[in-house]
Order: sequence, then structure tokens, then C-alpha cells
Amino acid sequence: MRDTYKRAVFVGPRQIRFDELPIPVPGPYQALVRVRACGLCTWEQRSYTGVEAFYPLSSGHEVAGELVALGERVYTDTQIGERVVASMLTRCGYCESCRRGLDNLCDNARRQYQGEGVVGPAGLAEYVLIQDYQLYRAHHEVPFEELCLAEPLACVIHSVRKARVELTDTAVVVGAGVMGLLHLALLKRAGARVIVSEPDPKRAEFARQMGADAVIGSADDFFADQVLELTDGRGADVIFCAVSVGMVVKSSVEAVAKGGRVHVFASVHPRGVGVLVDPNLFHGREITLTGTKGQNKEDMRQAVQLLSHRAIDLGPLISLVLPLERLEEGLQAALRSDTYRVVITP
Ligand SMILES: [Zn+2]
Ligand SMILES: [Zn+2]
Repeated sequence: MRDTYKRAVFVGPRQIRFDELPIPVPGPYQALVRVRACGLCTWEQRSYTGVEAFYPLSSGHEVAGELVALGERVYTDTQIGERVVASMLTRCGYCESCRRGLDNLCDNARRQYQGEGVVGPAGLAEYVLIQDYQLYRAHHEVPFEELCLAEPLACVIHSVRKARVELTDTAVVVGAGVMGLLHLALLKRAGARVIVSEPDPKRAEFARQMGADAVIGSADDFFADQVLELTDGRGADVIFCAVSVGMVVKSSVEAVAKGGRVHVFASVHPRGVGVLVDPNLFHGREITLTGTKGQNKEDMRQAVQLLSHRAIDLGPLISLVLPLERLEEGLQAALRSDTYRVVITP
């Protein structure tokens, strides 16, 4: 075994450096994972372009690999060499948010990242050192490229669980990017009828192939009319906003049924720009406006189980697989509208 490994560091907009570092030895409560696949999510893309980033940043939070070594006092059934998902978004377990069951919103999340001088989850590397609680054992037959999608899948599980989707609900998913399509897949499994809103014709067609019951255009002025037409004038039971556009929330509030839920899944950029909605809609129609960020341990457990049982096929969402040396090419591809998830295999 080599005694050093390669790790990508984002040092500025469109600037990436590769460090060669000693392979760490796991201490107590730690595990060492050989990374086999790391997805390039919106966070990595924004860090690359500089839209929302701090530097230097060791990026990469969607990680699947093999367990290489365990430190002392790690109590797990996972054997060395087994396939695992590493949940790279850290949580402390003892802050007020963690104690209230909101560990996806941990107050100390950013302070918990590994190692000296490393800021970020650091999954775009040949090895990652993680804490025991970040380790999830997966089935050995699931390809690493699909397993690394456990993280975004867990975020969407978190979203769908919070929105309390019932059998026969009509759900609208705004945006047919990776996150929108993951919503579509889970909502279909949950027994909902799913309408996808997507202006890009190629993406709209792909959403249809992925099982959308109907596809409508963008969430503009005619959005509510289109949703009402497809729901006998009632409106949708639940609308998921999976695009970074604030106005979508306004359109959604106008397109949701009495007692319905509008769920803000995607962060909106630029931040701090509000939209105007009529408060009477919440009073007179008992609409709930809610949202989610990230995932908790139960969401991650469910995501890894769904993938391990082959209960959900995420293969079609993987557009491109590239080695770590070609990370920049991967990021550029991920930014294009004709790709879904780009996966790096260090
Ligand atoms: Zn915490
Ligand atoms: Zn992600």
C-alpha cells in the first residue's frame, strides 16, 4: 500500500490544486475509507464557479467506498473491505439543534470537519477519515457510482417525509434536475401522482421517461392555471420547489389546494431577496409553507437501504464518470444543462 494519497482542494474560482498527503491512521472512534466514487453536487459546482464559496475548500460530500481501517472503540458490524457510504456532512450530537432532533441543522457542522488545515468534507480524494457515526454499510453488489447518490437521495427522503405525502396525493415537482428527478422517483414510490414543471424540453422529456404523470412548463404566470387544470380546479396537495428561484414559492402558494403544502427544498440565490405572497392564502386556505435542508441519520439509513435493496434505480441519473485527475472536466460537464450527476472515481 502506498503511504500517501491525492486530495483535491478548491483554492479559488475555477482553480483546483491536488495535494499529496500521508494516508492517515484512524484514531479512536474513527474509520478510514478508500473513496471509490464521489458525486459532484450543486455545492461542489458553486464552489468551483465561486458563486458561493470559501477557500481553500476540500470539497466532495457524496462519498461511497470501501472500509480500509477502523480505530479503537468503533463498534460496527462492517468488515474491512466492505462497501460503505460515508455521510460526509458532520454533526456534533450535543448542540441544541442536534438534541432537538435537527442534527441536519447542527450548530457546529462546519467546525467538525476532519484534520488540521482542512476545511470541507474532503471527499474528492483517494481516502477519507471519518467518525464512526458517519459510516453506513451497503450491499456489495451496488455499484459505487450509484451508492454515492445515497447522500442526495437522503436529502430528498428528508424532504418527502416532512411534506407528509399520502397515497393518491397530487404532487408537483418544480425543476427536473437531479434533485427534482429524485423527488419524482420517491413520490412515485410513495403512491403520489406526480406533475413535473420544467421549461427545458430535453429535461421535460427525461422526466416523462422517469415516470412523471404530466409535465408542464416553467413556474411562471401560467403555472397556477396549468396545475389547476390538471387537478379539477383543486390545486396540488403538495408542491416541491427544487429550483433556486424565489418566485417559484409565490407561484406555488397560488397553485396549491386547500390544506396543501408548499415545500422549499432548494436554496434560493441571491440570498435575502424576498417574494410577496398574500397572507390570506394561509389563513383562508390553510396552506402550509415549509422547507428542508440536508438529511439526518434516519434519512441516510433509508437511502442506503433503498439502494442496497435495489428498490430504486439511480443509474439513469449518472451522466458521466471520470477519474480524479479529470475533476475540472467533470465540474464543467456538471454545470451544463444536458448532464445530471457527474461522478468522480478517485
Ligand atoms: Zn450539533
Ligand atoms: Zn449533495
